Amino acid sequence: MTPLADLLVRRIRANGPITLADYMAECLLHPQYGYYATRDPFGAPGDFTTAPEISQMFGELLGLCLAQAWLDQGAPARFTLAELGPGRGTLMADVLRATKGVPGFHGAADVLMVEASATLRKRQRASLGDHPARWADHLPQGETPLYLLANEFFDALPIRQFTRQPQGWAETLIGIAQDRLSMGKSAAAPISLLDHRLADTKPGDVVELCPSAPALMESIARQIEAHGGVALILDYGDWTSRGDTFQALKAHQFADPLAEPGEADLTAHVDFAALAAPCKACAYTTQGQLLTALGIHPRAARIGQRLSGDALTQHNAATHRLTAPAEMGRLFKALAVYPSYAPKPPGIA
Ligand code: SAH
Repeated sequence: MTPLADLLVRRIRANGPITLADYMAECLLHPQYGYYATRDPFGAPGDFTTAPEISQMFGELLGLCLAQAWLDQGAPARFTLAELGPGRGTLMADVLRATKGVPGFHGAADVLMVEASATLRKRQRASLGDHPARWADHLPQGETPLYLLANEFFDALPIRQFTRQPQGWAETLIGIAQDRLSMGKSAAAPISLLDHRLADTKPGDVVELCPSAPALMESIARQIEAHGGVALILDYGDWTSRGDTFQALKAHQFADPLAEPGEADLTAHVDFAALAAPCKACAYTTQGQLLTALGIHPRAARIGQRLSGDALTQHNAATHRLTAPAEMGRLFKALAVYPSYAPKPPGIA
C-alpha cells in the first residue's frame, strides 16, 4: 500500500466513506504524498503529455490571441496575465516569448501563476527565467483587466459523481472492502444541485459535478465583465457531463484509480456548460478549430521550412496531434470568456 492509501484507509475506518472529490483532493494535492506535490509528471518519462509540451506553437498562438484581444480592448496600461495550473511553465514561457514584439504588452502585464504544488512552482520559476511573476494558491478576485489561460487545469479539480435512480441520485463513494479501498454508492436521495439534469437524464445515467468550478468561474467572469480581459480555457470534456469519466493515468496508460493513491494522475472530463453558466459572454469550440483559426497551419509551415529529417517529421506529427479530430483536435474543447461589450477574441467565430 502507498503511504497515502494507508492514511485514507485509516480515515475511512474512523469516519466512514468519502466522496470522489475528497479522494481526488487528497491524491492530487496532499502536501506530503499528493501526486502533484511530489513530482513533475509531464512528458515522455512521466505519466502524460499536454499540448504546451507537444509544441511551442500552442503557447505562441494562445499568447498572440490574448495580445490581440488586449489591443482590441484598448491596450489597458496594467493588466493581470494569469495562468491556472501552469505545470512546467512551458505555456507561459511560450506566451511571453511570442508576445515580446507586441509594443507595451509586457510592460503592462503583471504575470500571476496559480499553482498549488511547491515542486511545480520551482519548475515554473526556471521556465520563466528572469521574467517577473508572482505565485498564488488561488486566483484572487482582482480589480484589473484579466487575461487568463488554463490548459488541463479544470480536469484536475475534484469531482463528485452521481447515478440517477428512480428516487433520486446515488453518489459514488470510496469505502473499504477486504482492507482495501473500494468503490460503492450512497443510498439514493434528491440532490437539488442536479435538478437541472432531470430533464436530460434517465435512471441509470451517470453525471459528474465539480464543486469548486462555479465559484472560480464566477470570479473570472465577474472580473472580465467589470474590468475587461479574456479567459481561454482548454481541456478535454464536453458541453455537458455524461457518464463515468473519472480516470487514472500512469506512464501514459489508463490505470485503476484506487490502486495507488498519490502515484497516478486522476482526472475527469470537464463539463463546459457548468463553466460557461456564470459568464455573460463566452464562446465554445474545439481545440482543433481554435488553433486552425488562429493560424497554426501557416505557422507550422513556416517553422517546418527550417527543419529536416526527424525534426521535421516530429514537428508535423505535433501539428497533427494538436489539431486532428482523431487526436486532440476534437476531444479537447476551448471556452473563451470575454466582456459582453467587447469584440470576440481572435479565432473565436
Ligand atoms: N497547464 C499545464 C499543466 C496541467 S496539469 C500543462 O498544460 O502542461 C495540472 C496543473 O494544475 C498542475 O500544475 C497542478 O499542480 C495544478 N493544480 C492542480 N490542482 C490545482 C489546484 N486546486 N490549485 C492550483 N493548482 C492546481
